[in-house]
Amino acid sequence: MASKNDLLKFVEQNDVKFIRLQFADIFGNMKNIAITDQQLERALEEGVMFDASAIAGFSEVEQSDMLLLPDPDTFQLMPWRPQHGKVARFICDIKNYDGSQFPGDPRYILKRSEAKAKQLGYTFNIGPECEFFLFHTDAEGRPTNKTHDAAGYCDLAPSDLGENCRREICMVLEDMGFEIEASHHENAAGQHEIDFKYSDVMTAADRIMTFKMVVKIVAQRNGLHATFMPKPIYNSYGSGMHINMSLSQNGKNLFNAGENSMDISEVAKMFGAGILQHAKGITAVANPLVNSYKRFVPGFEAPVHIAWSHMNRSLLMRIPAPKGEATRIELRSPDPSCNPYLTLALLLEAGLDGLQKNLVIPAPVDINTYNLAPDREKELGIQRLPSNLLFALEEMKKDPYIKDVLGEHIFTKYISAKEAEWASYNSIVHSWEIDRYLSAY
Ligand code: ADP
Ligand code: MG
Ligand code: MG
Ligand code: MG
Ligand code: MG
Repeated sequence: MASKNDLLKFVEQNDVKFIRLQFADIFGNMKNIAITDQQLERALEEGVMFDASAIAGFSEVEQSDMLLLPDPDTFQLMPWRPQHGKVARFICDIKNYDGSQFPGDPRYILKRSEAKAKQLGYTFNIGPECEFFLFHTDAEGRPTNKTHDAAGYCDLAPSDLGENCRREICMVLEDMGFEIEASHHENAAGQHEIDFKYSDVMTAADRIMTFKMVVKIVAQRNGLHATFMPKPIYNSYGSGMHINMSLSQNGKNLFNAGENSMDISEVAKMFGAGILQHAKGITAVANPLVNSYKRFVPGFEAPVHIAWSHMNRSLLMRIPAPKGEATRIELRSPDPSCNPYLTLALLLEAGLDGLQKNLVIPAPVDINTYNLAPDREKELGIQRLPSNLLFALEEMKKDPYIKDVLGEHIFTKYISAKEAEWASYNSIVHSWEIDRYLSAY
C-alpha cells in the first residue's frame, strides 16, 4: 500500500495539479469531485465532504453530508490529460460525516463479502470480459446506434476507426496498470471486447469501473461513442460481461481438480451450485436495465436457461477448456451495465453459500438449449432466467440472501428505483406497438 508521504511526494515531483475523487453510486455509475494538490494531504487524513442527497439512491436530505476517503491503493495518473499540471485520481470509500460506515457505499458491500472469504482463507479471483459497441455520433455530437464498421468476430478492418480506437484504449489501460490479455472485434458490427488479466475481486471491480471510464473517454477523443448498453441493436449480438471466477488459497487454485484432470474440483462444483441456486435472485443486479433482458434471447451466445456445461455457450455457466491454475467457472449472464461491486459481492457469497451447505451441482447439460421444446425443458428440469426486469425484481425479493448481502439500505433503494424504471417503461407507448397495432385494429 502506498503511504501518504509517498503519494504526496509523487504528486509534488510529477507536477500533478488536480486530483479526482471517484466513487460509485448504488447503480454503479461513477461520480467524482475534483480537488487540487494543495488539498490532498487533508483529504487523505480527514476525507472530503460532499452532498450525498444529490446522488440517486444514496441518502435523504436530512443527513446529506458525507465523506469521501481516498483509497491510496487506487491512485493513478489519468494519462490522457495534459502532461503539464497532470490529473490523477483515487477511488474512494464513503463514510457518514461522523465517521461511521455509510451502508449505501457499494464498495463497502464488496469489502464486507471479501472479508468473509478472507476469514476462511480464500481469495476470490475475477477475470471479466467486457464487451461494448463503438458508434458514430451525429452532426450535433449526440450518440447514435449506427456502427462505423461491418466487421465480425476477430476480423481485421484495415480502414477501421474502431481498431485504432481499441488500440488506444489498450495503451491507456496499460499506462494505468492493466495487463491486457486480448482484445478483438466481437461478433456484431461495431462490437469489441478487451480482456484484462484476472485479479482479486476488489481490484477487478475497481478496474471494471476504470475500464468503462477509459473506453468512453478514448472513444470520444476518436469522435466515436462507446456504449455498454446491453442490447443496442435488435436481432444482433448484445454486450455481455462474462465473469470468470476461481477461489484460491495460499496461492493455489482450489477449482483445479489436479494434474491431467479435464474436470473441476469438488470445491468448484459446490461453489457453482451456490451460484446456480441464487441465479434468479442475482439477475436484477447483474442485469439491471429494462434493456438487459432483450439480450436474453436465443441465438446470440447469451444465456436463457439456468444450467451449466463444459463447453456450451448457450448456457448460464460454462467451464472453459483451460485447466490447472487457469481452471475457472465462467458466468455468462452479467452485462456491463451492472454495478460490479454489488454483482461480485453477490456471486462470491452465493458461491460461499454453496460451499457452506455442500450443495450438489445438477448434471451438466451438453446440448444447445436454444431450441429446447418446453416439455423437454420440463423433463430435464431446466429453469429459465427471469425474462424481464419486473420478474427479476420479484425473484430478488424472494431470495432472502440477496438482502443479507446488499444490506437493507441498498436493497430497498435499489428495488424502489428499479420498480420505478419498470413502471416508466411499461407506461410508454413504444414504436413496436404503433407498428403492430395502429393499422391492424
Ligand atoms: P473466453 O474464452 O470466454 O472468450 P477470455 O479468454 O476472453 O475467455 O477471458 C478469460 C478471462 O479469464 C481473462 O480475464 C483471464 O484473465 C481470466 N482467468 C484466467 N484464469 C483465471 C482464474 N484462475 N480465475 C479467474 N479468472 C481467470
Ligand atoms: Mg472472451
Ligand atoms: Mg477469448
Ligand atoms: Mg465475447
Ligand atoms: Mg467468455
